[in-house]
Amino acid sequence: MADIMKMGKNPNYLGSWDLEELPEKEVTLTIARIVDEDVATNGSKERCTVCYWTDSNYKPMVLNVTNKKTIAKIYHTKETEKLAGKLVVIGIEKVKAFGDIHDALRIRKRIPKTADPVKCEDCGGIIQSCGGMTAEGIVARTKQRYKACLCFSCATARAEKSKQQMEGEADGQTEIDG
Ligand SMILES: [Zn+2]
Repeated sequence: MADIMKMGKNPNYLGSWDLEELPEKEVTLTIARIVDEDVATNGSKERCTVCYWTDSNYKPMVLNVTNKKTIAKIYHTKETEKLAGKLVVIGIEKVKAFGDIHDALRIRKRIPKTADPVKCEDCGGIIQSCGGMTAEGIVARTKQRYKACLCFSCATARAEKSKQQMEGEADGQTEIDG
């Protein structure tokens, strides 16, 4: 069923319509990277700043000046490298423009609360959501499997290492992870 109010919107980027079914119509996401890219709208291309999230279930968001300023303000930096890994809350705000009222995506002016970050026991880095799994999910899974809190890439490295070991010991004496 197509909603006439949602038609004609760019389906490749996050819009207020993507948040409508969420509690509080807000979502907390972690910045993966912020880049400039050509965004096609109504047949023309426009160079926009786009923010990608670590959670690939959410489409990237085109950042307007207001939202850029908010991010820079709450984290006291304008450098995209420093903003990677930072959390933001995105909500909807009614915005008056050209005598009309629109729903616009707004980065909230607060740093979201999050569970205490867990450090990876192999590399010492903060464990972050990856590959469609939340950070909490990765911690739970690696604790169970490796008896250690590991980040996604270190868990992958261990999995590959044990696979190699298994192949090396073709007589199958070693039980790896059951
Ligand atoms: Zn690690």
